[in-house]
Amino acid sequence: MVPAQPVPVATVDPVPADAPDAPPWPHLPTVEWQVCGQCNYDCSYCIQSKKYRVGYPTHDELQRALAVLADLPDRWEVKMTGGEPFASRLFLDLVVPSLARTPHRISTLTNLSAPVRQLQRFAELCGEQLGIVSASLHLEFTTVAEFLARLTALREAAHDGASFVVNCVLAPGPLARLPEVKRQVEDAGFRFFPQLMKVKHGLYPYDEAQMQLVREIVGDLQVATRTRSANMAPAYTGRLCWTGARYFVLMHSGDAWSCRSAKRYGEGYLGNAYDGTLQRRERPVRCGYPICPCTVPANRGMIEGVERRGG
Ligand code: SF4
Ligand code: SF4
Repeated sequence: MVPAQPVPVATVDPVPADAPDAPPWPHLPTVEWQVCGQCNYDCSYCIQSKKYRVGYPTHDELQRALAVLADLPDRWEVKMTGGEPFASRLFLDLVVPSLARTPHRISTLTNLSAPVRQLQRFAELCGEQLGIVSASLHLEFTTVAEFLARLTALREAAHDGASFVVNCVLAPGPLARLPEVKRQVEDAGFRFFPQLMKVKHGLYPYDEAQMQLVREIVGDLQVATRTRSANMAPAYTGRLCWTGARYFVLMHSGDAWSCRSAKRYGEGYLGNAYDGTLQRRERPVRCGYPICPCTVPANRGMIEGVERRGG
């Protein structure tokens, strides 16, 4: 398959000379930090397949990254991803307690496989700083009942202002079961957030029967795209975007990138947190990519014409 190419920058308008250094509307500066490249699951649809699993940063590397995050001005959201963050002992012994000493909001993406006592400890360490827990339901490795029992225990241990969302990839295998799964998740009082399955450089080519099931789960696809009630991987090509300035992705290697699409094309490199070269941009850019597969920049208010939402 020929990979999709970014739209050449020459085809979109230049960034205005007086563009502000931060979005001039409500937004939440956010870093997505891949605290490790290791996962205890091996989902068939994982975009970080086993050969790309890269292990854990050392104690020293984590401390350097934590020092960079502690220096971020004012209050940021630090959203931790992996692999699986809880897969490393250092997550609860070093990372979360250190972040809890900053003013930042602490969020995490997890497959929720950690034992209940670890999830409870996580909630206690974060205290009022706990922002959003995005729990991914992977039916190849757990059951709905087990998953909801752990998530309910975590919610009970967390402060009232914390948010919980259940992500679920619309993989073709379990697709027929997912309307019922969605109902169970919502009956337990959690938001169900379906995600179209991504393959290397785009979306999985669902056939017509599969698309009917997708519509049953997601509802009207245009409404879902507009309201962002599902991850439909929209396009924001040509819009001003403050990623790199008020949002960035920090990898387990210490390398920082302006957004995931830019990284995929080898663009938007911001330097490395371990060797002290990380520099955020001072200005927005115009998006030159055909899809925006990650919901965080949009939901945190980084993109022109896309309102902040979700906590
Ligand atoms: S839980 Fe997430 S990171 Fe781990 S194998 Fe599954 S999709 Fe990949
Ligand atoms: S975050 Fe989305 S809108 Fe911004 S540059 Fe990346 S792909 Fe484009």
